[in-house]
Formats: sequence, C-alpha cells, structure tokens
Amino acid sequence: MTNFIFWDDPYLKTLETTVLSIDSNAVILTDTIAYAEAGGQESDLTKINGITALESKLDPEKRFITYLLPQDHGLEPGASVHMEIDWTRRYRLMRLHFACELILILMNRHFGKKQPGEELLPEEIDHVGIEKVGAHMSEDKARVDFILSENIEAYFPMLLSEFKAIIDADIPIETGYINHEKRQRYWKIKGLATVPCGGTHVKSTREVGYVQLRRKRANKGVERIYITLENP
Ligand SMILES: [Zn+2]
Repeated sequence: MTNFIFWDDPYLKTLETTVLSIDSNAVILTDTIAYAEAGGQESDLTKINGITALESKLDPEKRFITYLLPQDHGLEPGASVHMEIDWTRRYRLMRLHFACELILILMNRHFGKKQPGEELLPEEIDHVGIEKVGAHMSEDKARVDFILSENIEAYFPMLLSEFKAIIDADIPIETGYINHEKRQRYWKIKGLATVPCGGTHVKSTREVGYVQLRRKRANKGVERIYITLENP
C-alpha cells in the first residue's frame, strides 16, 4: 500500500521516498505526491529521479499508483528516489477541479433532485432533477455536462454571481476520510456541501479565483459548460 501524501498535503512539490516494487518499467513507490487520473482530474506530470513518468495509473482499489517509466530507468526495489511534480500544472488542476465542483453544487442547489418534503422555489419547478453526465479537468479548462434541452447559458449570470460570492468569502475547505480503510475521501464547506471526492483540493475558496464560463451544445439534449480561470 502506497502512502498517498497528496491527500494529507496537496501542496507538496517534491518528496524523498523509496521504491516499493518494480515490474519491468512499472514502478510503485512507498509514498507519493503525484496524483493519477481519477474522478475527472488528470494525472500530474511526474519525475522520479529526474525521469519523466510516461503514464500514471491508479489501482482500482486505490492501494497504490503505478508509474510507467522508460525501460532504462535503472531503479531497484528499495532504492531511495527523489520525486517531483509539475506544480504549475497541478495547481491549475486543483483550482479548476474545485471550480467545477462549485458549479456543480450551484446547479444542484437550484435544479437538483429534491428530498421528499423539500420546498421548491417557483423558478425551480420546471428543472427538478437536472442531471450531470460527465466532467473532466485539464490544465487549461474544465468541462461539466448536464442533460438539459434548453440553452444553459441562461443560468450563467446566476451561477457566476453565486460563484463569485463563495470565492470572495474565502471559505475554508476541509477534507478527510469517509472510510479510511477503503480510502474514500470527502471535502466539506460548512453550510454549503459535503462531497465524496478523491481528488486534490485547495485549502480555501479564494485560491480558486474567478472563472469564465462558455457554453457548448455537446450532444442532443446535453449542455456543456467549459470553465476557465480568469487568472491562470
Ligand atoms: Zn474534488
């Protein structure tokens, strides 16, 4: 089992650790700061002893991450290694990841399925049960898709104004384990949301900064929102 340090400290850029195991060019480390794609957040760009990993793969049970290196890596099990991530890329991914989650929460707050007995605002009645069908975050933009027949752009002024208020309030983002053994994580903003997520998260909403939204008709009946950072 690899120690996922990117959960306890998502701000670490370098780490000294050791090689836990090697199978040909697939390397597993004792500890790691390099995230591997999951939940729509892309993998970090990772160097191990100065060698750039070609690919990073998360074990389906989240016990370890395998980094694929070029064949001539020269590493042995037990060897000490220095690892390093591309911080500019990771920090953008973290901010866009959270921007995406906030947009999702705001959409759900207004249009998501209600619990039995929960009151609807008049403008929400026609939109109950809006459904997210996909999300992805890359270094320069995030996207999130909803099943919706009408143009989602109509909601942008509302989304942007509520988004801005949350960013300006500089609210702490707490993270922790839902289930330590199964390595299930959550993030939480008091009074706003608690969300299961194994991604890497910024410490406070102000770090995300303001965003711009762009709409695309992704497919028949699917509206896409592209999110970009105003100050990447
Ligand atoms: Zn997340």
